[in-house]
Amino acid sequence: MQRIVIIGAGQAGCSAAFGLRKHGFEGEVILLGAEADPPYQRPPLSKAYLLGDMARERLYLKPPDAYAAAGIDLRTGCAVTGIDPANMRVETAQGTLAADAIILATGSDPIRLPQAVTGGLAGIHSVRGLADIDAIRDRVATSTHAVIIGGGYIGLEAAAVATKVGLRTTVVEMAPRILQRVASEQTSDAIRALHQHHGVTIREGVGLARFEGDGAVTRAVLSDGTALPCDLAIVGVGIRPNTALAEAAGLRIDNGIWTDARGQTSAPGIWAVGDCASFPHGGAWLRLESVPHAIDHADTVAANVMGQGKDYAARPWFWSDQFDVKLQIAGLNNGYDAVVTRRGNTNWSLSHWYFGAGRLLAVDALNAPRDYMTGKRWIEAGQTPDRAGLADPATDLKTLV
Ligand SMILES: Cc1cc2nc3c(=O)[nH]c(=O)nc-3n(C[C@H](O)[C@H](O)[C@H](O)COP(=O)(O)OP(=O)(O)OC[C@H]3O[C@@H](n4cnc5c(N)ncnc54)[C@H](O)[C@@H]3O)c2cc1C
Repeated sequence: MQRIVIIGAGQAGCSAAFGLRKHGFEGEVILLGAEADPPYQRPPLSKAYLLGDMARERLYLKPPDAYAAAGIDLRTGCAVTGIDPANMRVETAQGTLAADAIILATGSDPIRLPQAVTGGLAGIHSVRGLADIDAIRDRVATSTHAVIIGGGYIGLEAAAVATKVGLRTTVVEMAPRILQRVASEQTSDAIRALHQHHGVTIREGVGLARFEGDGAVTRAVLSDGTALPCDLAIVGVGIRPNTALAEAAGLRIDNGIWTDARGQTSAPGIWAVGDCASFPHGGAWLRLESVPHAIDHADTVAANVMGQGKDYAARPWFWSDQFDVKLQIAGLNNGYDAVVTRRGNTNWSLSHWYFGAGRLLAVDALNAPRDYMTGKRWIEAGQTPDRAGLADPATDLKTLV
């Protein structure tokens, strides 16, 4: 193999490029990214960077000279327009590249509200890239009322920042409760209480009907007829894996770009990693949207491109920062039938433990790093703690398995 082309210069694409070097690839590595910036971390976008507490350069995953030093040909501002699996060609506006292997690391795009709902008004923003946050930060400076559509992690993090910078903030969640898709009622209750304590208004079980304004947004009209004043709107209603290139090239799509356990797509020589890829996990196909997954997946796939034949074993974990709370999650709670709560003794500190058929599946820890670390270790080792002991904060976790 002489040349490997990676499409998408985000977390997974960058990890794949350096992973190829780590696993001994000595040929050409070309990393193509549509965005103007070099690969950067996204989590701080809805947290410290939105708040203005973090400089742009600190987001960058590697110093600018690290790419040349590793022999990685990083091309930013270079959108790929097509791939040709039969001839192993990658098309860009700047020309066509031949490749011996292609790694798709195209990430995901936020779901955008239709024009009929946004009215094409200024002041309505998504949260995905640096350009989005720069636009929101400009808007924040002249705003007083923020309406956040969507009570998932992105929406709630944005609500915390908007409140911290002095905006009167309302979160609108169509489902009966915030975090419905990802967390238990108990975790939703704790996070709702946290936001309300800081002055955020949470509206659940009601949707957005439309935004209104004159050129720029001035109010959000909800499905129950309520009109909320609003000069900044942030929409965080989920993402879609970026499968357009793969789909156009005839690759199999199944809630993301379908891959086998080693990360190979339905087309030989073409691999997919990170947010855009769905991979086998526990008897089904799964897609994960998280930084640790993007890093681990890219590393395994880089090894497999080099012929190592390793199955990817996902170890899901995730975090979210809201106000003075760090929420850390280990495992996946899909199919849980019981939740045990363990209370801590510091501010907002507690953890929720998910069980399914008697086995520990996942833990949500709020300001409880020890519970998180211990839970993560148990989940990875397939161990299940004694529930009564877990519920008693006086019992030392170490004694429970
Ligand atoms: C605001 C925000 C906060 C988050 N917070 C957390 C968190 O706290 N914890 C956590 O674990 N995860 C968090 N995530 C999720 C995490 O950032 C993603 O899971 C991770 O970035 C996925 O990496 P990726 O490389 O697969 O995709 P991305 O980082 O999205 O990178 C994909 C790149 O591919 C490029 N691309 C797409 N199509 C083309 C094309 N045709 N040609 C060239 N380039 C292309 C895109 O421009 C993009 O730069 C957050 C995400 C966001 C947006």
